[in-house]
This record gives sequence, C-alpha cells and structure tokens, in this order.
Amino acid sequence: MKISVIGCGYLGSVHAASLASVGHDVIGIDVDAAKIEALSQGRSPIFEPDLPELLSEGIASGRLRFSTNMADARDAELHFIAVGTPQSAGAGSADLSYVDGAFDDLVPYLTEGDVVVGKSTVPVGTAVTHVAAVEARGAHLVWNPEFLREGFAVKDTIQPDRLVYGVADGDEYAVQKLNEVYATAIESSSPVIVTDYATAELVKVSANAFLATKISFINAMAEIAEVTGADVTKLADAIGHDNRIGRKFLNAGVGFGGGCLPKDIRAFTARAEELGRGESVAFLKEVDAINLRRRERVVELVTEELGGSVFQKKVAVLGLAFKPNSDDVRDSPALDVAVRLNGLGAKVVATDPEAIANSRALHPQLVYGTTDEALAGADAVVVVTEWPEYKQLDPAAVHEVVRTPIVIDARNCLDADAWADAGWEYAGLGRQVKN
Ligand code: NAD
Repeated sequence: MKISVIGCGYLGSVHAASLASVGHDVIGIDVDAAKIEALSQGRSPIFEPDLPELLSEGIASGRLRFSTNMADARDAELHFIAVGTPQSAGAGSADLSYVDGAFDDLVPYLTEGDVVVGKSTVPVGTAVTHVAAVEARGAHLVWNPEFLREGFAVKDTIQPDRLVYGVADGDEYAVQKLNEVYATAIESSSPVIVTDYATAELVKVSANAFLATKISFINAMAEIAEVTGADVTKLADAIGHDNRIGRKFLNAGVGFGGGCLPKDIRAFTARAEELGRGESVAFLKEVDAINLRRRERVVELVTEELGGSVFQKKVAVLGLAFKPNSDDVRDSPALDVAVRLNGLGAKVVATDPEAIANSRALHPQLVYGTTDEALAGADAVVVVTEWPEYKQLDPAAVHEVVRTPIVIDARNCLDADAWADAGWEYAGLGRQVKN
C-alpha cells in the first residue's frame, strides 16, 4: 500500500521504516528539514536499536522516502499522523497545536477513499474535532493509538501486543484498510480491537496511567521501606509472584520519565477536569507527586552519604537517558538528578552511552564525560539509568579509581552484596544493605 507518515520523530521514523520493511511504499514527512535530510540518507536521528538497519534497507529498496513537502503525501491512500503532543507550556494539558497543524496541512491533499490514521496520543474527544474536515474530502478517519516502548520500538511496531482501531460508526472500509496495512502483524497473532474514537483515545491514556500508577505504587512502598528497614526489592518479588499483580513495572527507583508517561498523566488529569470528572483521576496527581519525590530522595541520599553537603564534591552521574537503550532525555529523572546536584554546587561529571548530545542541548551548564572521566577521583557514584554497561561494572576495579567508595544505586540495578563486599558504602532506594 502507498502510505504517508506525518511526523518522523521517535514514533513516526520507526513506524515509517517498519511499514516499509513489511513491503509497503512509504513516504515520511516532517517539518524539521535536518531530520528529513538525515533520514533520507539512511541516518537515524535518534538512538533506537534496529532502526538504522531498517532505514538503510528501506531506502535501498526504494520503498522508503522522506520529504518536508506535504504535497508528497498526495499519492498515498493511508496517512498516519504521528506528530508530537507535548505538555502545554505552564499547564498540564496536552498541546494539540502540532496535531491541528498536521490535519490543516494534510486535508487539502486528501482524495476520495483515503484513510487518515491518528497515532499521536491525544486527549479523549480529539478525533471528533477532525472528522468533519476529513469526511468532507470523501476520506475516512481512524484513531489507532501507539503503544511502542522506546528501546524496543521496532519489535513493538512490527509485532504489537494489540492493535486498537477507533472508527466512526460502522466504518468497515477503514477497518479493512488498516487490516491490510497490519496484515503481517495480524497473521502472526496481534489481536485487533475495533471500537469508537473515545474508547481508542482512552485506551492509550488509561494504559499509561495504569503503568505510571504501578511504578509510583512500588515507589510509595519504597518510601515506607526506608523508614521501617524493609527491603522493597524483596517485597516486589514477593507480591509479583501473585499473577494478578505480576512482577513487571515493580522496580522501585528514581521513577518514570520520558516523552510519554509524565505528560500523559498530566494531560489526562487536565482533560478529566475539563469534563467535570477531575475526582475520577485525582489519584494521578499523587502518582506524579510520588514520582517527583523520588528524584529529591536520590539527591538527599547523595547528600547524606557525603556527610551533609555535596558542595565541591565530585559526583559521577552514570546515566542521562530516561531509560536504557534510548537517547531520549525528555523529562528524564537521571538528567534532573544531575542538574539538581550541579545546582547544589557538586562537581558533577555526567555520562551516558547515547544521551550526552541531547542532554547538552538542554543543559549546556553540566560537565559531560566518558564513564572513566566521571569515575576518576569521584567522591560518590550515582547510577541513575540502568544501562547494561553500568550494571556490569566491576566494583573492585571501580574502587581503584574513585576517591571515596560510595555508590547510590538509584535504579536498584546493581548487585548490592557484591558492591558491599568490594568495600563500597552502598545505598539503594527502599532497601538496606549491610556494609
Ligand atoms: P517527537 O517530538 O519525537 O516527534 C514528533 C515529530 O513531529 C517531530 O519530528 C516534529 O518535527 C514533527 N512535526 C510537528 N508538526 C508537524 C507537521 N505539521 N507536519 C509534519 N511533521 C510535524 O515525538 P514522538 O515521541 O515521536 O511522539 C509523537 C506522538 O506519539 C506523541 O503524541 C506521543 O505521545 C506518541 N507516542 C510516543 C511514543 C514514544 O515512545 N515516543 C510511544 C507511543 C506514543
């Protein structure tokens, strides 16, 4: 099928390359000329495993092209809207100006029988505001939210856990077109749920609200563990064995971040308040507050471990991305911890395998370096993103290069006993370790 993907960021670039890889003819469109230039040359503008290979293959096959010109979407019969929906400046609500702009730009090029497919995460009630303009061109509108996880985005796009189509009443034509696009995923057993616009929009935000709540729940337990001597990692293992609860997303630590969960729970809260149902999701404010308190707790732990002040102390901050296998630093707890420590006068040297360039663009005041540069002569080491290379550090070898063997494991991802045995003062979140 001939497909356009409008917006080629973390979602759109992966979506475009993945659809080309399963045989579709795809044009990716973005207003960012530098991004389109890179993508056209087969260079990935983001760090995402498997994406560079898919881009080169797609471009070499002639099935994947990129453009800054919306008129190039004209030949496509299916158009995915994958533009950003960030948090509005100074408010919790979603900024829908990019979605509105994308519809305004695309609608004049739509022809009879085209299908527009919204993938961006939007507040419930957004799709209906665009349906009349799309239908006036003889085209169809579907809302098909995206659930990919950064770091696994290609796999999640090619073989999603489920596909959700929000369609106008009885729009079998749109369902059949989407089934054709996703034929490979459907054949290899991804379930399809066909519903209305409002349900599809809500599925996405409620899924993210649930995940955020699960993380803040275990972090709340970590807060209680910290004042009682309990161990939250053992607690998580124990409750996680109950398959009604499950062990996934029960890792206590510095909390969630990134371009989705934080802004999605705030936008959901704002939308529920607009609908007069603020009380239904009032707990999400607490979920957000617990999450933000964990960042403060990490700074507090570093301060305590350094004897009450971080001023002029060298702190190695290992990790900047909001999660491993990504270069995304949007609302990253790791970057936030580095900035806070730096603001308190610590000599922070921050490092990350992939996210230094994005961090520097937001926070040029921080000192960045390699892992070796960060660790050399450090008074404390803080692990804030659980990259495999940090989990695999040899505590005995690192002991040799730091000034003081103090480690704050803000992701509870290190082997606490091994670090303590190697002579480290180890501090995790919600757990006590005998040093
Ligand atoms: P992003 O900021 O990385 O990408 C958005 C892109 O849209 C940018 O490259 C921007 O230049 C482009 N754009 C803006 N206006 C445009 C226009 N009028 N025409 C063409 N391009 C335009 O954002 P993202 O992380 O890819 O997220 C996109 C959407 O997908 C958001 O709604 C997000 O909530 C949702 N989502 C993201 C993820 C994820 O893991 N990143 C997962 C699921 C859903």
